[in-house]
Amino acid sequence: MLISDKFCCSLSLSPTLYRPLNLPVINSTDSTANESTLASKKHLLDLSASDLIAWLIEKGHAKFRGGQILHWIFQRRATEFSQMSDLPKLLRQELEEAFQIYVTQSEATVTSPDGTDKLLIKLRDGGEVECVLLRDGTRRSICVSSQVGCAMGCVFCASGLDGVDRNLTKGEILEQMLLLQNRLPDEERLSHIVMMGMGEPLANLDRVLGALGIASNPKGLGISPRRITISTVGLPPAIDRLSSVGIPYNLAVSLHAPNDELRSELVPVNRKIGIDAVLGSADRYFETSGRRLTFEYVLLGGVNDSEHEATQLVHLLRKRNVLLNVIPYNPVEGLPYSTPTKRSIANFRQTLESGGVNVKFRQRKGSEIDAACGQLRRNRGSISSN
Ligand code: SAH
Repeated sequence: MLISDKFCCSLSLSPTLYRPLNLPVINSTDSTANESTLASKKHLLDLSASDLIAWLIEKGHAKFRGGQILHWIFQRRATEFSQMSDLPKLLRQELEEAFQIYVTQSEATVTSPDGTDKLLIKLRDGGEVECVLLRDGTRRSICVSSQVGCAMGCVFCASGLDGVDRNLTKGEILEQMLLLQNRLPDEERLSHIVMMGMGEPLANLDRVLGALGIASNPKGLGISPRRITISTVGLPPAIDRLSSVGIPYNLAVSLHAPNDELRSELVPVNRKIGIDAVLGSADRYFETSGRRLTFEYVLLGGVNDSEHEATQLVHLLRKRNVLLNVIPYNPVEGLPYSTPTKRSIANFRQTLESGGVNVKFRQRKGSEIDAACGQLRRNRGSISSN
């Protein structure tokens, strides 16, 4: 699997089309009474299958209704209980009173001419996250957020500029996947998931795993773990936990520098961790999962793109079974970084390839740049929403 095909945070989206999603939203003009009723309803997507069955039994319904409800939501793309035509009317009413399937509001949608949709969605508490659908040949990949904001502080990234507000719930992670799936025509299915949106997935591992468990379940979205990638800044204890879970998700580690001095500057959490520990846990993940590792390297002009860094990277990676995914920086307004020149990209590539590193360079899609990860959220004041 080529992660470069699925990378979304450095997408260059042209802001040609801003339009609302044609999906159920909480209408902000509704009465306060209505809003409080909605807020008191549980998010159905947060329930486990056993929670749902317990609720059904308590209400006097058969267990198998649980499977029917999930089938309607994940496979038949129902957005409302009233569409679930093979459920008894009473059950549909009771579900309606107790739960909401979708709890988010669409704030903005950016559609690029190359078939990429980037959504900014508002959560029940007002927090905002982004998620992306990429169409590439027969692939339908999605990039999903795990947190509101990010605490990792990578100095070039828009997502963490204001720190982290909170972890997303399992239901909020799943809802992004469903919102993106619902944009596809009935005959198309999602094929790949990357946890590369806002936030650090390994800092919210339980909920990320809960959501991915349903995404990979044939009765859920039915996407094989081998087509699911978790991207991390590199948190060794959490990578080890992921190894022990034993599900063969792909792991992508955001390296961005080949030595601790530079990495600690660019990725501040590295100060307390260090590259050796990150690589050690990544190696253990490879041993237990058998999945080839991906390392991500955002190329910042004049910062980490010299011959010296390329040579150091060769030493770090050449003996490992990895893919190095090099991404030219997607500029973020207000940050002092720039995309490297074509020449320095070519030199960097040459050094890595001749050093025997398996490397992919992601090309930026066109010159317009709008939406690096977290930028849509920051810039939404300047675009027309809904
Ligand atoms: N926290 C996780 C996942 C979210 S970021 C991680 O660090 O991997 C996903 C990827 O997007 C990371 O490799 C991140 O460094 C990269 N990224 C963030 N901002 C970017 C930008 N402006 N241009 C290019 N890549 C960016």
